[in-house]
Amino acid sequence: MTRHISSTRLVRTYNASTVLRTLYEHGRCSRSELTELTGMSPATITRIIHELLQQGVIKEGSHGKSTGGRRPIYLHIDHTKLYIASVKLLRDDFVVALFDLKGQLIAKESLHVESLPPHTLLANVATSLLEIFASLAIPHEHIIGVGVSASGICHPIDGVVIRSLNLGWKDVPVAEMLSQALGIPVLLENDANACALAELWIGNARETANSMYIKTESGAGVGIISNKTLLTGSRFVTGEIGHVPLIPEGKLCRCGQRGCLEPYVYFKGFQETYLERTGQELTHAKFIELVGDGDDFATEIIDQASSALALACAHWGIILDIEVITIGGIWGRFPQILKHCQSYYDAILEQSVIPSNVQILNSRFDDIADLLGAAGLVVSNWFTPASVPFERQA
Ligand SMILES: [Zn+2]
Repeated sequence: MTRHISSTRLVRTYNASTVLRTLYEHGRCSRSELTELTGMSPATITRIIHELLQQGVIKEGSHGKSTGGRRPIYLHIDHTKLYIASVKLLRDDFVVALFDLKGQLIAKESLHVESLPPHTLLANVATSLLEIFASLAIPHEHIIGVGVSASGICHPIDGVVIRSLNLGWKDVPVAEMLSQALGIPVLLENDANACALAELWIGNARETANSMYIKTESGAGVGIISNKTLLTGSRFVTGEIGHVPLIPEGKLCRCGQRGCLEPYVYFKGFQETYLERTGQELTHAKFIELVGDGDDFATEIIDQASSALALACAHWGIILDIEVITIGGIWGRFPQILKHCQSYYDAILEQSVIPSNVQILNSRFDDIADLLGAAGLVVSNWFTPASVPFERQA
């Protein structure tokens, strides 16, 4: 009698996940190739394949060449039937989302957050994700994991937010709390690091070894990729430089110092000022319109952000011999900012070192870089450690 594996566990059982990982890695395999590659018995492979086909997470495709007997049928993962949930926990910006295995965004929902205590906020996250799964009738076990991108110093192995000034959290075991609530494995990463990984895997930095992502709108910090690897430092503090003063006698920052990058790029701060002055809401579209019209308020903000970002790019990028810098958030959408940062950087290198090879770019992911990076971590961890997620499609 065939042993039946509970449909609520199959995908995450060792044998099934080994078969799925092998198919993900190789793109397509016949049953006999799977037997050879996994080391499992033909009977086990037959049983697992039967179960996975029934669940719809794999499908039969073309026929291979005959080696004497019947032509083998190739098996593929159905990349639209396995999912990764993703969570963004930033200052004033809380989003849950669902991606398929191709990295296609299936659902995204901003959370209404009234208070930040971890239990309340994470319960809100779990409820919202469960509602998305239910509304799309996605079987729980077809979600291979949850990736969380959070503002602050994060321990990616323990899944703990060690400290987050923006969230007001200290030693919060986010992965454990969320995985208990959802019954799904959870991975955690710092927000700027998640964005830098998204750019490395499928964005601006995919062709380069050394890159940096500057996080802007909801706080300032950087994610750094050195030699294709995320730099974390010994305490996961690498890149937490949003509150290292850059501009002498600069703007007063909420950390108590002057001249940090954050007050120059924290968009909510400008929205609050605009509301006080005009009684109107400053949306991204409105701000872009004001800049286009040459409005004094908007022009001053752009000029100051441009100068501060140019300093940040040059000071942080040259230390690391960076080749690609991505400016996240709304600021990267202004060509004049990118151009100013680029020419400032190039001029310094020309004068002092060697001709510049840096490219300073806008993110192609708009506001989902965090979510993509966090989801990519899950794919990378589950299927192919140290490899590129979202690319190995049949
Ligand atoms: Zn500061």
